[in-house]
Amino acid sequence: MTMKRVKLLAHEEIVQAALQELQGNIAAILDSIVAIQQIPAPTFAEAERASYMRAQFEALGLQDVEEDSLHNVYGRFPAASSAERPPVVVSAHLDTVFPAGTALPARRNGRFLYGPGIGDNATGLAGLLALARTLTTYHFSLPADVWLVANVGEEGLGDLCGMRAVVKRFGQQARYIIVEGGLYGQISHQAIGVRRFRIEIEAPGGHSWGNFGNASAVHELGKIIAQITSLSVPQNPKTTYNVGVIEGGTSINTIAQTASMLLDLRSEAPEALAELETAVREIVAQANETAKHKHTGVRVTMEQIGNRPAGSIPRQSPLVKMAVAALHQVGCSRVSYIASSTDANIPLSQGIPAVCIGLAESGNAHRLDEYLDVTHLPNGLAQLLLLTLAAARYATS
Ligand SMILES: [Zn+2]
Repeated sequence: MTMKRVKLLAHEEIVQAALQELQGNIAAILDSIVAIQQIPAPTFAEAERASYMRAQFEALGLQDVEEDSLHNVYGRFPAASSAERPPVVVSAHLDTVFPAGTALPARRNGRFLYGPGIGDNATGLAGLLALARTLTTYHFSLPADVWLVANVGEEGLGDLCGMRAVVKRFGQQARYIIVEGGLYGQISHQAIGVRRFRIEIEAPGGHSWGNFGNASAVHELGKIIAQITSLSVPQNPKTTYNVGVIEGGTSINTIAQTASMLLDLRSEAPEALAELETAVREIVAQANETAKHKHTGVRVTMEQIGNRPAGSIPRQSPLVKMAVAALHQVGCSRVSYIASSTDANIPLSQGIPAVCIGLAESGNAHRLDEYLDVTHLPNGLAQLLLLTLAAARYATS
């Protein structure tokens, strides 16, 4: 049913014309990807890129364009008359993993576009703009509002703060389409759970020679990391840990007084994630116990700094089927379903229909040598348009 509806939709004259124009605009869309990629947008410092997106939303004729206090940017493509159905929210994250001051060169080589953040998520944001342009140019008549959103806080320690605000605003009734630049052909309707912690160690420390024997925060940190590394985690459901950042110490000849690590735990299954967290908490409790017992003066604290809740909607739900149909329609026969941690976690964890889709293929995400393979971009954009139209017209549950 869904398949057939999307197919019928794709053959409407106006949709055909819109799809053709999208394909004809690829050169301009590539320019737009690079223009966005050039604007720094570290998590918690997305303002500059947000105002660029806001200006673009306004120039494209979206309505009710606004920026909230977090720098989420919203623009509405209005329903034909008064909206008969809850809105469709199409959102792409603004932020990148690259800290302020990172050089952001971009270059093209054949079908590859290179640049930090080029796929993740300059391409997703440029996709939003291409979608907005198509909707306004062809005056699509839809029974639901389509809200285009450029949201903050997806990467790093953002903890999906932007999407939390977006879902709060549009609520349970809306349908959410999350756009990532890479990941073409992949549909995520299963959100993996992520818990993040800062583990901090305090120790007496002192002079490396004169106070030898005093406990060191750095050495204690090393012991705890070694214990975490020796934890066994299930392969199925996939469950992982990573100490991504360590900090601490004063100088080479000082026994460290403080040290800390950032720890990221993930699992496809909430129970396995809870078990892993318990195991880490036990390691920390044990370290404190030993310190107390031996009077070393070491103190270990563990603070949760991130919680991306797990959740999913069934593969048979209308929105997922529409996403599959849209991909098939643009000629992608190999659709894969992935479990991932994206902005879709927020709606999915509340049982609200959401999918995360991609626009092209990319590589080396989160690295300076990130690249986008533009081959599938025309199809990826066509898929986004079809899915948005289908979700606005047909989504009933
Ligand atoms: Zn991303």
